[in-house]
Amino acid sequence: MTGISGPVSRPDVDACLARASDDFGHIVTSRPLSVHTPRSTAEIQDVLAHATARRLPVSARGGGYALYGQGQVDGGCVVDMGALNEVRCLPDEGLLVAGAGALWSDVVRVALAEGLTPPVLPDHLGGSVGGVLVTGGFGGASHRHGVVADQVRELDVVTGAGEAVTCSRERHRDLFHAVLAGLGQCALIVRATLRLVPAPTLVRRYRLYHQDPATYFADQRRLARDDRFSHVSGQARPAVGGTWEYVVEAVAPHAGRLPPDDALLIGGLAHDHDIEEIEDLGYAEYLRRPDRDERLLRVTGEWTRPHPWLTLLLPEEAAASFVPAVLADPAQHGLRTCGAVQLRPLDGAALRAPLLRRPRGERLCLLSLMRTAPPGDPDGVRRLVAANRAVHERAREVGGVLYPASAVPMAPEDWRAHFGHAYEGLARAKAQYDPYGILTRGYALWR
Ligand SMILES: Cc1cc2nc3c(=O)[nH]c(=O)nc-3n(C[C@H](O)[C@H](O)[C@H](O)COP(=O)(O)OP(=O)(O)OC[C@H]3O[C@@H](n4cnc5c(N)ncnc54)[C@H](O)[C@@H]3O)c2cc1C
Repeated sequence: MTGISGPVSRPDVDACLARASDDFGHIVTSRPLSVHTPRSTAEIQDVLAHATARRLPVSARGGGYALYGQGQVDGGCVVDMGALNEVRCLPDEGLLVAGAGALWSDVVRVALAEGLTPPVLPDHLGGSVGGVLVTGGFGGASHRHGVVADQVRELDVVTGAGEAVTCSRERHRDLFHAVLAGLGQCALIVRATLRLVPAPTLVRRYRLYHQDPATYFADQRRLARDDRFSHVSGQARPAVGGTWEYVVEAVAPHAGRLPPDDALLIGGLAHDHDIEEIEDLGYAEYLRRPDRDERLLRVTGEWTRPHPWLTLLLPEEAAASFVPAVLADPAQHGLRTCGAVQLRPLDGAALRAPLLRRPRGERLCLLSLMRTAPPGDPDGVRRLVAANRAVHERAREVGGVLYPASAVPMAPEDWRAHFGHAYEGLARAKAQYDPYGILTRGYALWR
């Protein structure tokens, strides 16, 4: 923290500035002028007044898991939301109020203590409430309940003009819809009120292996269409002979006394029935499943290397041929040894946040190419980012759409195409709520 919010020692200032000049992607770096750690709405307003008077750009920082500098700000002010991390559960109302800087792991801890859970959670719980809500937030339950942003009842925000506003579907609806999945363009989120549902105590997890992409996508389609599983996701994993195998991961809640009927749930699916994996887990343990991978990647060093990740939403009918073609592309070869490929069935009708762009139609598939680059090879990273851009263009040809939490260079005209008919509305909201254009320039949305 520097300047506005009081004196701090030089090493602390340097550490804050260094942290704010990088992100999980480790591809884009910048030199912010100052880092502020507000403890209240009024202190955020102070930062915005300070920045507006000097026409300095401003970006919020939550968990720092952006992939391509989206939360960075060269020569401007970083608003570190970390101190705005209070989480309060209102069990009787089925709601939870979280500071924008709270992490999803804090949200889960507080909600589970009351036997409740958000209906949709991102897989990785290390991101902040604000950071995930401005991108959307996909999780294992998205095929039924849409994105995390669709679960928000109310937001307290500070607009780019410095005004504190409480907005919801009923109050200041245009601002509410401009903030959720709105890439931080119109306001900084201070606090969010989220819907909760009863949490299961136990879940049964099925891992179902498919050698043939066509049968995998057919099963994924079936599972997304009915409600037999609460969570459905998938992966492509490298197999022998340069091929890939496809794994459905599906989860059914249960209370222990009455376990799910396996034959009913998976009997009619087309996976290899000889190697299916079935396991009962506590719900909390299930939610923490990525922690083990994170620990491992920290040990191998991959967690701190560059991450040129790409996430796309595809029309389901295109995914069955698009995904194997991308995985066979020599430019994606490194995914076999250093990275992961995630798939997720989605229901377009469940996705409600207007600024979350999606392909036409109801049956959609999310594809994440989560590539880790070798260390000390900036040219290699540039090549991987260029490969992301090429895959994004191929996806657009089949009706695919970018999920903006990706490492892809995008020019203002690309964003105009990305937002399509929603672009004019976003541009109007930007002019109204951030009239000096100081917020969240890391996306390069405007000229
Ligand atoms: C390991 C990993 C796993 C992931 N898993 C998932 C997943 O399962 N599902 C999914 O949908 N995404 C996932 N993502 C993407 C991730 O959720 C997004 O990148 C998200 O924006 C990160 O949130 P953060 O708090 O870490 O953001 P930061 O890097 O701190 O910020 C990201 C963006 O949000 C803005 N922002 C942050 N806080 C606020 C605020 N309070 N108000 C306004 N703008 C704000 C920043 O300015 C920046 O533009 C994953 C990313 C990683 C690296």
